Amino acid sequence: MNVVIAADIQRRNIILENFRDYYGVSVMSFSNDVRNELARIIPEKSCCQKAELSALLALRGEITQREDGGEYLVTSLENATAATKLYKLLKECYGLSSAVKTQDRKLFKKKRLYLVETPIPSNNKFLYELGFLTKDQEINQQVNWSLLGKNCCKRAYLRGVFISRGFINRPEGNYHLELIMNDSSMAGDVQKLLMKMGIEARISDRKKGLMLYVKEGEKIVDFLRIVEASKALMDFENVRILKSMRNQVNRQVNCETANLAKTVDASLRQVEIIERLIAKAGIKGLPAALRELAVLRIDFPDSTLRELGNMLDPPLTKSGVAYRMKKLASFAEEILDN
Ligand SMILES: [Zn+2]
Repeated sequence: MNVVIAADIQRRNIILENFRDYYGVSVMSFSNDVRNELARIIPEKSCCQKAELSALLALRGEITQREDGGEYLVTSLENATAATKLYKLLKECYGLSSAVKTQDRKLFKKKRLYLVETPIPSNNKFLYELGFLTKDQEINQQVNWSLLGKNCCKRAYLRGVFISRGFINRPEGNYHLELIMNDSSMAGDVQKLLMKMGIEARISDRKKGLMLYVKEGEKIVDFLRIVEASKALMDFENVRILKSMRNQVNRQVNCETANLAKTVDASLRQVEIIERLIAKAGIKGLPAALRELAVLRIDFPDSTLRELGNMLDPPLTKSGVAYRMKKLASFAEEILDN
């Protein structure tokens, strides 16, 4: 009973935590752990740096015009480490200096956003190179495939996608990874990119946009491996192993319980027959070889055949006892039918 209650409490806590996580209330969530870990990774090669930048800007960037006429690229992130990363990448790849500001928004509870504001220089080639702007100077809502030729860059891009829009359940709960997209062609592109890396994600419609999701534990592990979240990967795998061990134990217990039930049922049938036999023919009416076993069966209805065999004098093997039980049954058939 206690075990059931503890499991219920644990389940409730997981639901609560996921809820908090989803609405950005708690900072202790697994999503945040993963996001923090990914945000700390700064790719070495500039091809990967640009790929990741491209994802961050595509999903979180906007262009705003200031009163003085200046144009700014404003990228809003929910994580301070991610904002620092974006700052570093813009500096490293293009020598751009940004300012990082915070903004508190009230949703269900206070939610802090980190705004990376980058003045756009007159030479704004980088916005085209990153695929943020199309040739027609429109904001692009697609994956910039020209940056994703190499696998290292595909990994980096997916890392940027998770930092911007990723959510992952704690492995103790149901396996669930999702990426929220604001645009259907972007969602389709990211789905294709995941597919290229061997991960099949499904798309579902939500009020606030489209959601790509993965429900298979194995595939979520693959995703964590691809984006190189090694700490989260290890934590996830540890829980998965524990869970599968627990399932195995449960299966074993269920199996043993089923066997026990079978033994008890058989024993009750035997007891019933023996009692009817004795009522009709008396204990002396039973063949001498079966008498001792018949009495033991009635006295020890919970014992297995092996245990009964050990109580006999001289002891008998399990199959020996089974044989005598069979004889007892056919004898009973004869007597009780007449
Ligand atoms: Zn690369």
